Amino acid sequence: MADVVIIGAGISGSSSAYELAKEGLEVVLIDRFGPAAMASGWTLAGVRQSGRHSAELPLAKAAVDIWQTLADELDSPTHYTRGGNLRLARTEAEVPVIEEIVREQTAAGLDLQLLKTNQEIREIAPALAEHVLAASFCPSDGSADPTSTVLGFVRAAERLGVQTRFGERVQFIEVVDGKVTAVVTDKGRIPTGKVVVAAGIFGNEILRPLGIDVPLQVPMVTVLRSAPIDAVLNQVIGVANADCAGRQEFNGRFRVTSGLQDWHGGLLEKQTDAGLRPRVLPTGHSIAEVVELFGDIVPAFAAAQIEDYWAGLIDLTPDAIPVIDGDVGIEGLVVTMGFSGHGFCLGPITGKLVSDLVQERQARLPLEPFKYSRFHNSRSFTEGATLHG
Ligand SMILES: Cc1cc2nc3c(=O)[nH]c(=O)nc-3n(C[C@H](O)[C@H](O)[C@H](O)COP(=O)(O)OP(=O)(O)OC[C@H]3O[C@@H](n4cnc5c(N)ncnc54)[C@H](O)[C@@H]3O)c2cc1C
Repeated sequence: MADVVIIGAGISGSSSAYELAKEGLEVVLIDRFGPAAMASGWTLAGVRQSGRHSAELPLAKAAVDIWQTLADELDSPTHYTRGGNLRLARTEAEVPVIEEIVREQTAAGLDLQLLKTNQEIREIAPALAEHVLAASFCPSDGSADPTSTVLGFVRAAERLGVQTRFGERVQFIEVVDGKVTAVVTDKGRIPTGKVVVAAGIFGNEILRPLGIDVPLQVPMVTVLRSAPIDAVLNQVIGVANADCAGRQEFNGRFRVTSGLQDWHGGLLEKQTDAGLRPRVLPTGHSIAEVVELFGDIVPAFAAAQIEDYWAGLIDLTPDAIPVIDGDVGIEGLVVTMGFSGHGFCLGPITGKLVSDLVQERQARLPLEPFKYSRFHNSRSFTEGATLHG
């Protein structure tokens, strides 16, 4: 018998496992592949407040506070750096888009500066091209290493007694008289009264048999990773129309992403040293486009050798903000999914919020905008997950 079973060891599930174990609960953390096997490993891993939906901004701010000391708390490196986020205007038409972002977000209380000349921009980021016209700059944004961070949460959770079961697939949640009673996997049955579904794009596979169906689109993002070069770029770089983004990792590698693309539906399962892992392959065309777009604004990336590539899948909800909800109509069930391309930054606060919901106490931040019931009346898609980084 477990107090809580968490399905999914991405950043949302692993931080939830850690937070619940910290409060003394007996937790089982299950993943059909392993830690950071899907979005939480595929990600660009920007840790940003800028460009956020107003409902999400308090969560992003709280998360950024936690990121400052997370590595010490987990006693494990996160490679978090606070180099800032630059969102660029490359054409005259993009300049008003950036100006509007700065106006809106400063009004929302964020420290966001408008850089109006290439000289101002290149004083902050000399690696950027000379034709970039303007930029927003949020100095308190940054990035972290996704796999190190998720592994940090998992190991800290294990030290607190969390039982981790990787390479095990949840088949269904057993519900009797409207209450969770167990989780059934391909390896057995785990009796429990509480379940957290943190299964990303696969969340609905588990929820639909219970009559819950979070409206999701699943677009794809192409990701390229270069071989290491000397450190030239501290900031996470985005652009006004979100057709590319990128940053240089702590190890010198560039990690660069495309905008949203249609997913062709293919998902391979490959044996790796860490076990079976999912892999989505981008097209040659999308790889060439990323090199051209990001190489145009960061010439050092175009000159670097490409070491690896993959595509990541996004769990995009109609309003591009997640479901974080413990009141979905089944006693003991908490849902946290649909992070729409920006759930990595939120991970550390997601775990604390899930812990509040599992323990049926007032959540420490307002969660009304993240309720599943908002889709009862409308399931039409109004927002795109346009801003990564
Ligand atoms: C290319 C890309 C770039 C991004 N850039 C950013 C960014 O810059 N900043 C940012 O904040 N966010 C970004 N995101 C989004 C962010 O990475 C995700 O929102 C976040 O990682 C979601 O974490 P999660 O734990 O909710 O889901 P996931 O990481 O997808 O984890 C879900 C887990 O559930 C497991 N699972 C599924 N079904 C089952 C089952 N039946 N049984 C057992 N286990 C199961 C999966 O194996 C998986 O490990 C990006 C995403 C992508 C793809």
